[in-house]
Amino acid sequence: MVSRVIPVQPFDLVIFGGTGDLARRKILPALFRRFCAGQMDAQARVIGAARAEMDDAGYRAFARDAIIEFDVDAASDAAHLEPFLEQLSYVALDAAGETGWDALQDRLAGSERIRAFYFSVGPSLFGDLAMRLHTYGLSNPDCRIVVEKPFGRDLDSARALNKVLAEHFTEAQIYRIDHYLGKETVQNLMAIRFANTLFEPLWNSQYVDHIQITVAESGGVGTRGGYYDKSGAMRDMMQNHIMQLLCLTAMEPPAKYDPDSVRDEKLKVIRALEPVEPRDVVRGQYEATDRLAGYRNEVGSRDTTTESFVALKARIGNWRWAGTPFYLRTGKRLRARASEIAVVFKDAPHSIFGSDAGRHRNILTIRLQPNEGIEMGVTIKEPGPGGMRLVDVPLDMTFSEALGPQAADIPDAYERLIMDVIRGDQTLFMRGDEVEAAWAWTDPIIEAWEAPGSEPVLYATGSSGPDDALALIHRDGRRWREIKP
Ligand code: NAD
Repeated sequence: MVSRVIPVQPFDLVIFGGTGDLARRKILPALFRRFCAGQMDAQARVIGAARAEMDDAGYRAFARDAIIEFDVDAASDAAHLEPFLEQLSYVALDAAGETGWDALQDRLAGSERIRAFYFSVGPSLFGDLAMRLHTYGLSNPDCRIVVEKPFGRDLDSARALNKVLAEHFTEAQIYRIDHYLGKETVQNLMAIRFANTLFEPLWNSQYVDHIQITVAESGGVGTRGGYYDKSGAMRDMMQNHIMQLLCLTAMEPPAKYDPDSVRDEKLKVIRALEPVEPRDVVRGQYEATDRLAGYRNEVGSRDTTTESFVALKARIGNWRWAGTPFYLRTGKRLRARASEIAVVFKDAPHSIFGSDAGRHRNILTIRLQPNEGIEMGVTIKEPGPGGMRLVDVPLDMTFSEALGPQAADIPDAYERLIMDVIRGDQTLFMRGDEVEAAWAWTDPIIEAWEAPGSEPVLYATGSSGPDDALALIHRDGRRWREIKP
C-alpha cells in the first residue's frame, strides 16, 4: 500500500516559543518528518521566535539536536536533514514587550506565502502575541494562529482567552490544538462509524450496554510536577482529551466531514452531558512505593490535594444514549501505559445454548496505545467435539499488520495537525464554544473538590487506581476492563 502525499502550499510558520520543550520534542521533529515525506515545499520557511539571543546558525544547531534526539531515523538522514535546516531561521523577540518585532516584520516582509503563527508559549502570553501581531501589521485576513493547551483552567479563564484572541482574529483563524484529535486511531473512529453500515444501527442505548474510555499512564509526574500540580488529571486530561474521545464516540453523524458540521455535533454531545453526581466521581493520588516517591513527594507539597487519577460515570441525556453510561478514567502510575475506547454491547437477549455456555458479549475496542488498532470481540464455538462450548475471540486489526509496513510508521499527531493548519482545515481543532462547554461541565466537579476537607483517595503504584474507582462501576454490576500493556 502506498500512501499519497499531497504537498501543501508554501508557507511561513513562526513558532513563538521556538526554543521551548514542545518545539524541541514535537513541532520541529514533526515538520522534519513532513519535509522527508515530501509534503513541505522547498519554499516554506520556519522561523523560531523566542526570548533567547541566538542567530540562524544557532537555531539550526538547536533544531538539529532536537530532531536527532526525538527522531531516531533522522541522525542517518543527512540528505534530508541539512536541506530542511536551511529552511529554518530565528528571531529573538519579547512577546510581552517591543523588542525584536521589527526584525520579525523584516523577515516576513513581501512574503506571499500562507502565514501561520504557532503560540507555543504559556497562555498568559496569548493576548500579548495576538495584540502585537496586529499592531505590527503581521497578521492578515488569511493568516492562522495555533494555540496550545491548556486553554484556560475553568470556564471564566477560557472565556477570557477566547475574548482576547477574538479581538484580533476570527474564529476561522484560530486553531486550538488537542493533539488527541491528530491521532490516526481517533480519526479512524469516525471512519469506522460513518463509512461502514455495520456499526451505526447498533450504536445506541438499545444495543450498547456501556462505554469505557481509559487513558492510563504508567509513569508519574516526573519533572513536570510543578506544572501538573496546578492542573491535575481533570484539567490535564479529562476536560480536553477524554472529552474529545467521548464526543467522537457519541456524536450524531455530521452531514459532512467539514469543520463546522463535525464540531456542531461534538458540541451537542457536550451540552447533553448531565451534571455528574458526587458519588459518580473518584479522584486519587498515587502512594509512594519502596523505590518510588509518592505524588506529594514528587511535586514537593505535603498537603496538595491535586488528583493524579480521576474516574467518573458520565451520562448523556439524549435519545441515542439515555441509559448507556460512559465510564471515563485516567491516571498516572497505573498498571500500564494503555489508552482505549471500549464499546461494550449488550448480552444476547436469550441464550439458546443454556446457562453452561456462560455469559458472552461483543466488545469493540479502539486502541490508541500501544499498537494503535481496532479489535472486535466475537463469540464463536470452541472447536472440538465436546458439545456447544462458547469462546470469545478477537477480530484484530492492528494497523501495522493489516495495512503493511507503511502503516507501522504512523505519523505523530503533530505532523497531521500542523499540515492541517497550512491547508486551512479546522476539522480536528477545537472551536471556542466547544472548549467553553467542556469547562462548564467540569467546573462544578472541580469546585466541589475545593471544599475544605475534601481529599483525594490514595492508590498503589502499578494498580488500576483506587478501590473507590472499582466500586464506582461494580455498583452498576459492571467491571473495568483490565489495563494491559
Ligand atoms: P517551555 O517553558 O519549555 O518554553 C517556553 C518558550 O516560550 C521558550 O521558547 C521561551 O523562550 C519562550 N518565551 C517565554 N516567554 C517569552 C517571551 N516573553 N517572549 C518570547 N518568548 C518567550 O514551554 P513548553 O513546554 O514548550 O510549552 C509551550 C506551550 O505548549 C505551553 O502553553 C504549554 O502548556 C504547551 N504544551 C506543552 C507540552 C509539552 O509537552 N511541553 C504539551 C502540551 C502543551
